[in-house]
Amino acid sequence: MSLRSLASMLRSEWPNVRVSVRRSIAGDGYFAHTTYDDEADRFTITIDKKIPEDFATFILAHEFAHVIAWDDTSKDDHGPAFWKAYMEAYRVYLRYCGR
Ligand SMILES: [Zn+2]
Repeated sequence: MSLRSLASMLRSEWPNVRVSVRRSIAGDGYFAHTTYDDEADRFTITIDKKIPEDFATFILAHEFAHVIAWDDTSKDDHGPAFWKAYMEAYRVYLRYCGR
């Protein structure tokens, strides 16, 4: 199980989305957060480095759903557009788990 391989599976499903994934300090007691850099047209998903790799992959599916639903939701929104995106990202996550 590696965060890197799930990230590459997700990227190949959504090739038009530019996403960097990094392990760092998420801060404020969060497991992770996602930001969008307008100028670079690139998302950055930060997953706290203290989180074990297996759990980090599960969190990546969640954060990636925020990326997919970004235009349809406000930041930190977990409404219908988010859950629709999560369903799609989670499908990739399950495929990743079953390899
Ligand atoms: Zn969320």
